[in-house]
Amino acid sequence: MRIVHLAAECAPFVKVGGLGDVVGALPQALNRLGDHQICVIVPYYGAIVSAAFGMEPFAAFSIQWNGAETQVEVAHVHHEGVDIYFLRGWPFFSADEVFIYHGDDGVNLGRYLFFCAAALEFIRILSDQEGWVPDIVHLHDWHAALAAMLLATKYRNDAHLRHTASVLSIHNMMYQGWGVGWHLDRAGLPPIAHPLLRAMGKTENSLAIGLAYSTMLSTVSPTYAREITTSEGGYDLEGLLEARVAHMLGILNGLDSARWNPSTSAVLLSSFDEHSLEERSANKDALQAEVGLPVSSSVPLLSSVTRLVGQKGLDIMIPVLRQLMTTTQVQVVILGSGMVEFETALLDLARDFPERIAVKLGFDEPLSERIYAGADLFLMPSQFEPCGIGQMIALRYGCLPVVRQVGGLADTVDQTTGFLFKPYEIEALRATVEDALRIYASDQLRWRRMQVAAMQRDFSWEASARRYIDLYSLAIDSKRQYG
Ligand code: ADP
Repeated sequence: MRIVHLAAECAPFVKVGGLGDVVGALPQALNRLGDHQICVIVPYYGAIVSAAFGMEPFAAFSIQWNGAETQVEVAHVHHEGVDIYFLRGWPFFSADEVFIYHGDDGVNLGRYLFFCAAALEFIRILSDQEGWVPDIVHLHDWHAALAAMLLATKYRNDAHLRHTASVLSIHNMMYQGWGVGWHLDRAGLPPIAHPLLRAMGKTENSLAIGLAYSTMLSTVSPTYAREITTSEGGYDLEGLLEARVAHMLGILNGLDSARWNPSTSAVLLSSFDEHSLEERSANKDALQAEVGLPVSSSVPLLSSVTRLVGQKGLDIMIPVLRQLMTTTQVQVVILGSGMVEFETALLDLARDFPERIAVKLGFDEPLSERIYAGADLFLMPSQFEPCGIGQMIALRYGCLPVVRQVGGLADTVDQTTGFLFKPYEIEALRATVEDALRIYASDQLRWRRMQVAAMQRDFSWEASARRYIDLYSLAIDSKRQYG
């Protein structure tokens, strides 16, 4: 199969969150299966340091955009077996832009509509030059969703693209790109005519447009696939998803197991695996010393590495940590950045309990790895979690997760590898942490067995990549049958 991915992020070139991780790993995993040609197209943000990655100028072409002829500049790099192309066309993704996502959603809508249009034109040029047609255009999140609409309308009879099926993956339902009508009009594109979107009043919503026009849909865990068809998880698009549920699969994200490996990591004091767990405790001592907590191997060390936003359950986690200070002997280390209200509440905690709570604000990947490798428990009480990577890394490093039983957390953690609770309530989280602490204090053997089971969990990308190939086959069949 010939598969082209379109996305706003792709690690290691540009990553803001889990989307970048997936787009940085899935194409390579598909490529490793053999028999498939994969490439990725991402915006050429000013923030990408092209020299650091050996990117080279590749092509230039022009498109009519917003009433003017716009030059599109394409750079290229061959990365781990996959061709990655970067597109920009002034003023979209210009070299002097320092941000990835603009703070103003209206600006983002214009940028990503341009990206979709320029990317499809580029695919036509590339396929013409190299003599192939794409079987699948795989779109990620709302930023790329409008390409499904363009394929089904503007390019419906195009010689290069008329047989191409589209797959849209939802990485987070909360972000939808609302208000696109004005931008379509400005770009000379007709208003959205899809009957389902008109009936549901969703013709302004980029994600909804992609959901209606894509041949097949997917999201990043089986449980999240069910949750987003409910009023609680659908963010007002549950009706549309319900209508298309027969065309949707939930496929769990993988974890880059070479990148996240406690037996080869260069940033740990002591490497270990499930057969040498006794080596792990040196990392706990070193972590306590690094973050300024008293060094003690017997005191349980709780942790969290997270974006500090409402989704991640901080409004139940912070009160629980405060309560635990009076009822137990635990220590806590938190690494994160995000909303000021959460940063302030965490700094207050650290100030009130300096000997027991360490809070590090900022983004620090090496420190995050030392936390996964040294802490005993990893807290992830998310309100919702499409897939989640933090808990998968924690499992791989023998740091037992305490998670809310939602989305990908429910699909990756069970009672043999961690601790789960369901109601989004302070009391439920506190009781579950206390259960975990009881086992930690009284049953070292059981704790060790859980760590071994956690570290043996296989979250390789290969299994997920095979499921995507099945999804692509369904999309190709459906396109052939129904157009
Ligand atoms: P999301 O994509 O919603 O933020 P995920 O669990 O899917 O959540 O992915 C979060 C990733 O970002 C994990 O790899 C986690 O270790 C990392 N991360 C989050 N915050 C930080 C931080 N402050 N410093 C370093 N890594 C972080």
